[in-house]
Amino acid sequence: MAQITENQIKDIVAKVLDEMQNMDSISDNWDSTQYDGRPFIGIFDDMNEAILAADRCYKTVRAMSVEEREKIITEIRRLTREEAAIMGKLGVAETKMGKAEHKRLKHILVADKTPGTEDIVANAKTGDNGLTLIEMAPFGVVGAITPSTNPSETVICNSIGMIAAGNGVVFNPHPGAIATSNYAVDLVNRASRAAGGPDMIVCSMKKPTMESAAIMQSHPLIKLLVCTGGPGVVKAVLSSGKKAIGAGAGNPPVIVDDTADIQKAAKDIIDGCTFDNNLPCIAEKEVFAFDNIADELIAGMKRAGSYQITKEQADALAKIVLVEKTKKDGKTVKTVNRECVGRDADVILEKIGVHVGKEVRCIICEVDFMHEFVQEELMMPILPIVRVKNIDEAIELACKAEAGRRHTAHMHSKNIDNLSRFARAVETTIFVKNAPSYAGIGFGGEGHTTFTIAGPTGEGITSARSFTRQRRCVMADSFRII
Ligand code: NAD
Repeated sequence: MAQITENQIKDIVAKVLDEMQNMDSISDNWDSTQYDGRPFIGIFDDMNEAILAADRCYKTVRAMSVEEREKIITEIRRLTREEAAIMGKLGVAETKMGKAEHKRLKHILVADKTPGTEDIVANAKTGDNGLTLIEMAPFGVVGAITPSTNPSETVICNSIGMIAAGNGVVFNPHPGAIATSNYAVDLVNRASRAAGGPDMIVCSMKKPTMESAAIMQSHPLIKLLVCTGGPGVVKAVLSSGKKAIGAGAGNPPVIVDDTADIQKAAKDIIDGCTFDNNLPCIAEKEVFAFDNIADELIAGMKRAGSYQITKEQADALAKIVLVEKTKKDGKTVKTVNRECVGRDADVILEKIGVHVGKEVRCIICEVDFMHEFVQEELMMPILPIVRVKNIDEAIELACKAEAGRRHTAHMHSKNIDNLSRFARAVETTIFVKNAPSYAGIGFGGEGHTTFTIAGPTGEGITSARSFTRQRRCVMADSFRII
């Protein structure tokens, strides 16, 4: 075995210390109005003022040529790539969730694969009665609510699509990720300035609250609401009386049948499940494995960095990662313990007295279908596995676990009948076959990316065109040139 030299050790220590210092400086410095002494552009104390400013941005964007908008988007992409590592670290430091390197990769994905103005395509219809043109017009000012799980990724992805479509945007970011979200708002504004656009092109709040979200939802200047978050907030915007795009919660099931490449399935599932510590809403949340391959699958998952806990340990852990919350109507419901969401597997295991190293990236356990780990969207690297007899039982239980959210489902199989049956039955917006979940948003899979997957309202993998309204222009009896 090769010996590690003294100089190599010094290099590693220096790198680790440097990394720790970076994290500390981020933790010490983050606030919602500046980063490292540089004041953020576009941050307001009052939602009404932010909306008025966003309306002015809308008027400026509307007057721009498509080429000018695309120049700004190109600069947003460039800065996002350049500052991806900072936003990754900032996101982890502020929210205490996820993994900085995975967050960096998510930003690169946003920069590379979020569609710009090329997504806005006009349609024409010609015939005996002349020419009719259908154009994709902006809505006006969009009110966007963003989550804590992909904070800056969502702000940048939404900004690119909304600006490409010619809209103004005001954000009401998650209060738990406000510094990271506003860093991204500032980045978009810096990009606009650098590309010769307006000084401010998107706006946000210094201290977003439920009240500021309520003002946004009822303000007459807001023409479209785009909400990326859990069931509570999606329900709120869908009840607002305005046009709304709702990108809500998921609980993606995975089926593994006995025709799958089991070793590849095991690794793919653990890679997807542990990406950013399971924060992405598309990530694998529970597995339904054919009984005759379950042992082999579990062995493969262990080789891929998982630690298996017993049923008793799973029950003990469930009491920690899920807590009871009393709702306004007095009813108590189980909800995820925010102290555990997006945390590393070893940190979660510590809570039940199991000490492992950082090489363990996922906690797996065999449970029954009714176990809370299967029923609840945990957003942490805990993966329950349910044994099933056959494809009928697998599809029935996986659909029940997905529970009509129409979000995401996965399957590992080489049987095209099984794949087609599950895809048809589960009715999800994203269905990934034989790959980690992130292939579904363009990371190692074809297609554009988004961090706003609108299942409930049907826009699906949103892009610039999702933030437009159709307008028709008719020239009767002329301009058909054939
Ligand atoms: P969350 O639901 O806790 O919060 C989202 C935002 O909504 C925050 O800004 C929050 O302050 C606000 N909010 C919450 N309730 C509200 C209400 N009643 N009225 C107005 N605003 C309200 O989201 P989170 O925990 O940061 O994100 C995780 C959830 O979001 C998960 O359920 C995940 O599946 C989902 N998510 C979905 C997508 C998607 O594309 N479909 C993407 C990311 C996250």
